[in-house]
Amino acid sequence: MTSDQIPGFSTRAIHAGQEADPATGAVVTPIYQVSTYKQDGVGALRTGLGTGYEYSRSGNPTRTSLETQLAALEQGAAGFAFASGLAAEDGILRALCRPGDHVVIPNDAYGGTYRLVKKVAEPWGVEHSPVDLADLDAVRDAVQPGRTRLVWLETPTNPLLTVGDIAAIAEIAHAAGALLVVDNTFATPYLQTPLTLGADLVVHSTTKYAGGHSDVVGGAVVVRDGDDGRGNSLAERIAFHQNAMGAVPGPFDSWLVQRGLKTLAVRMERHCDNAERVVEFLQSHPRVTRILYPGLPEHRNHDVAAKQMKRFGGMISFRTASVEDALAVCGATELFTLGESLGGVESLVEHPGKMTHASVAGSLLEVPDDLVRLSVGIEDADDLVADLAQALG
Ligand SMILES: *Cc1c(COP(=O)(O)O)cnc(C)c1O
Repeated sequence: MTSDQIPGFSTRAIHAGQEADPATGAVVTPIYQVSTYKQDGVGALRTGLGTGYEYSRSGNPTRTSLETQLAALEQGAAGFAFASGLAAEDGILRALCRPGDHVVIPNDAYGGTYRLVKKVAEPWGVEHSPVDLADLDAVRDAVQPGRTRLVWLETPTNPLLTVGDIAAIAEIAHAAGALLVVDNTFATPYLQTPLTLGADLVVHSTTKYAGGHSDVVGGAVVVRDGDDGRGNSLAERIAFHQNAMGAVPGPFDSWLVQRGLKTLAVRMERHCDNAERVVEFLQSHPRVTRILYPGLPEHRNHDVAAKQMKRFGGMISFRTASVEDALAVCGATELFTLGESLGGVESLVEHPGKMTHASVAGSLLEVPDDLVRLSVGIEDADDLVADLAQALG
């Protein structure tokens, strides 16, 4: 099937992998809170619809349902659910890299991604180069043909909202024999589908927009069809490691993410509407010195964002005159809750330098200390703007 023949996004979100339960006809996938399954004979798993399970680390029906939904939304060949976004990232690194390999990472990656690559992968012999992924020449220079195994792209990035050109970077990565991984946490498959633009793997923190209600921690990997560049099937490689390392989500967490994904399209539209209203307000405020939002024409890679994204998302970062100013704003909002994480229905504000990105202080990935990050929720836009107006004074 070509991409214009497949059902629309919300139809897939609500139906992919979610046929009525074969045992009872339940319309919503049940929470199969179970660890093991009765077998028909020694070494003979039950066959037929909804069967074939042996042990819930290897597979669980609630998780299978979520994994099918994830693959359908990202238009990939197979989806894998993990216990957190970082567990998913670790799964990719360990499934695909071996000592001596090299990885290109964004110079403003999510702090936990950098910590994983620097403090866990590097001691195991996997080297990395941080690079400005908005600069294609810099990416070309950073890639080492034959040695770079992964180019790791986050777009837009957390917290500077930098945008990288997925199709162009896929070409550079592939020309050097590397695979392209895209962290699609901020955009979600509703706003962009990296696998259709040439990426090999997509990774998510489903804790964020996918779950969407700040009530679950989870991660996901979705892969394209085909091999991993070293003679193995990409999907089999991730599946093997998911089971061998065991960082899987439980049935209830799988169910919560699945339930969140069903409303992703309507939530994202509202997140985008509200973010546009907030940007408009911030533009008029004298205490805001710079707004980082891919939807602004003056954003460094606005053209790329407009080409590869449907809209520009619910995350906004802005700079103020000083660290004191940034901290004062973070402390003065009432409706925007001061907190880490993002992508939930409720609006959040944070100071990346001292909160989510404290672990990159002193590194190449350090973020400006006058930066404020907003995760714009789906409350009424007038109330959000009023809260920022009183906080900024
Ligand atoms: C939160 C986040 C992660 C890590 O996910 P967890 O679910 O917290 O482990 C990875 N990438 C991005 C862009 C994130 O925002």
